[in-house]
Amino acid sequence: MLEYRIFTVARLSEAMLRIVRILSLGLLLTCPACQHGRMFRSRFTMNVRCPVCGVIFERDAGEVTGGMAINMTLTSAFALVAGGLLSVFTTLPALLLILAIGMATVTFGLLFYRHARGLWTSILYLTGSIFED
Ligand SMILES: [Zn+2]
Repeated sequence: MLEYRIFTVARLSEAMLRIVRILSLGLLLTCPACQHGRMFRSRFTMNVRCPVCGVIFERDAGEVTGGMAINMTLTSAFALVAGGLLSVFTTLPALLLILAIGMATVTFGLLFYRHARGLWTSILYLTGSIFED
């Protein structure tokens, strides 16, 4: 019984490590299938296929919305936390605070765009939606 539990815990931690590794690859904009190909060919243009292994990153046209949802959620969370911290710990006037948070939020959203799509691509890979043809 104890050996079975140790085996189960070992398999569970192995699976968790695989999930963390795949999600990390997505955040680093690297193909989760071959772990070598780059997902983006320019700042905002994602490759249709991995240049190394050839898997299609977003098979259906609507799959870009997953990355957009991740980006929007994390950008909103960033704005809430940054706005809350600035309003509590500084004495900035409200207009200046709103402008600063607005500019920081837009910048964060633009900078995180590729990583959100990469993260979504990793989630697609983990759920079996990305596969070799
Ligand atoms: Zn690849």
